[in-house]
Amino acid sequence: MPAQSKGEKVFRGIGVSAGVCRGKILVLHRARHLIARRELSEEKITPEISRFEKSLVQTRQQISEVQRKVVQNMGAKEGDIFEAHLLMLEDRMLVDEVIRMIREEKLNAEFAFHAVAERYTAALAGMNDEYLRERAGDMRDLSARVLDNLLDVADAFDLRHLSEPCILVSHDLSPSTTAQLDKKFVLGFATDIGGKTSHTAIMARSLGIPAVVGLQNVSQELDSGDYALLDGYNGTIIVNPTDQTFFEYGQLAKIRASLEEKLREIQKQPAVTLDGKSIHLSANIEDQNDVEAVTANGADGVGLFRTEFLFINRENSPTEEEQHKVYREVAAALKPQPVIIRTLDLGGDKFASHLQLAQEMNPFLGWRAIRFCLAQPVLFRAQLRAILRASAEGNVKMMYPMISGLDELNQANALVEKCKEELRAEKIPFDEKMEIGAMIEIPSAALIADALAQRVRFFSIGSNDLIQYTLAADRTNERVSHLYEPTHPAILRLIKMTVDAAHQHGIWAGVCGEIAGDPVLTPLLIGLGVDELSAAPRVVPQVKYIVRRLKLSETQALAEFALQCESPSEIYARCQKLARETAPSLFENKT
Ligand code: PEP
Ligand code: MG
Repeated sequence: MPAQSKGEKVFRGIGVSAGVCRGKILVLHRARHLIARRELSEEKITPEISRFEKSLVQTRQQISEVQRKVVQNMGAKEGDIFEAHLLMLEDRMLVDEVIRMIREEKLNAEFAFHAVAERYTAALAGMNDEYLRERAGDMRDLSARVLDNLLDVADAFDLRHLSEPCILVSHDLSPSTTAQLDKKFVLGFATDIGGKTSHTAIMARSLGIPAVVGLQNVSQELDSGDYALLDGYNGTIIVNPTDQTFFEYGQLAKIRASLEEKLREIQKQPAVTLDGKSIHLSANIEDQNDVEAVTANGADGVGLFRTEFLFINRENSPTEEEQHKVYREVAAALKPQPVIIRTLDLGGDKFASHLQLAQEMNPFLGWRAIRFCLAQPVLFRAQLRAILRASAEGNVKMMYPMISGLDELNQANALVEKCKEELRAEKIPFDEKMEIGAMIEIPSAALIADALAQRVRFFSIGSNDLIQYTLAADRTNERVSHLYEPTHPAILRLIKMTVDAAHQHGIWAGVCGEIAGDPVLTPLLIGLGVDELSAAPRVVPQVKYIVRRLKLSETQALAEFALQCESPSEIYARCQKLARETAPSLFENKT
């Protein structure tokens, strides 16, 4: 049990992945070094200089190794970054000054090196020249590495060495690091920055790891070893929880268990309203391992297969064969239910280190998703062929992310046609009628939905991006999270416009962004005429639970109200009221 003496402290952020966990905290930052000042006796001076020189050789080897990997995976230009580190390491003035301090002032190597390195860093940071100022960061990095070696400290960010369960606390976690978290050891995580629809948050939900983001400077305030309770429902992390807190959370766990029971009872039931309106309820997945969760949570297939996770955390892109194997496995396992495979959506906050994606000023507005794929026809072709081939094995559909206009859609469709011709010539089977859809996640696409609707078989509204692009509020930035409002009238109008255009042209429209998994917003989306909802497998049962208790007529009345209301918060409050009245059990564990 935790020590009670330090007193309970509550930090509030944004709960992005449901669940409560408790355990010891592990703060991830590069080891902060405790630099002791030691005076050396005469005979210790020469060995100390050797120890310092050995640490430089060790550091050089490590940097060269990192550089080699970067050149191999990303290219020579990226590898050049490490040249600056190597040059600094070989800076004779710096090295001589440290050796002089050890020899003349008889001081230990880490103290001498730290003192000199700090002076260099401060001098660089104070330069007028921007290039030189930026080298201060390189100097800090290099200094940390040398001190790691002198003090024999392991790199704190290497998560492969976790040996006991913990709650990770860090400034940030990248989606690729999150994708590698081992549930056995990571009970939950908390970060200083981040938003609800960042891909880090989406990964956490998909892994079922409770998570809280946007906690400001929690990574500096907490220490490894502190005992904490992390509440992903309400977005809090409570350090040194009192007995009273434990008791309250015990009660919440009981409420949660009784809800789980209710949700299990409807697992095999359809998602249909009390007055008979059927909603296609599907799940979002990131790889083939998620298929089990799709079935276990009673979803009707997959509404969004985010294929980019097959491309990250590896040294090269998956081949057509490799992709085909994965897509086929998912399609065959869920057959006859549909599996909508989304073509690659790299960029934004998802990067594959082996592809040469240069840093951009505005990655979400840059070379991302379909833009990237159309410029990389070899890579795109492999994926299109893999998806087409999998369509012979199940009910596969395909959709393009980030369509902004007709040109992109036409270009992508032309490439598909070319792949089909090739496959026909090679006598490789595929479904000639495989349906192709467009994601509607850029305002321009919603505004020309009537034109797009004539060229695709379905729409899937990517509300995560649609909201960020419409309201100009970065989905990963907690400072603008107050502006990121799903019930903003502009968003509701764009959804309505998309759904109406789809229906006028005889196609269906779904939503696969995170709002599709929020039971508070389920009635509104149904009322707006959405035909399909696709959410993280774990929240599918809750959405189904509320759908089965709603009347289509009341959702339509809600949508009618929302479409003429000017206030996002008023609309949200009405949604909340209807949802809580309809399905109170879903909200009992929220404080
Ligand atoms: C979306 O933008 O809503 C979406 C589902 O795509 P992603 O979250 O992967 O960008
Ligand atoms: Mg998107």
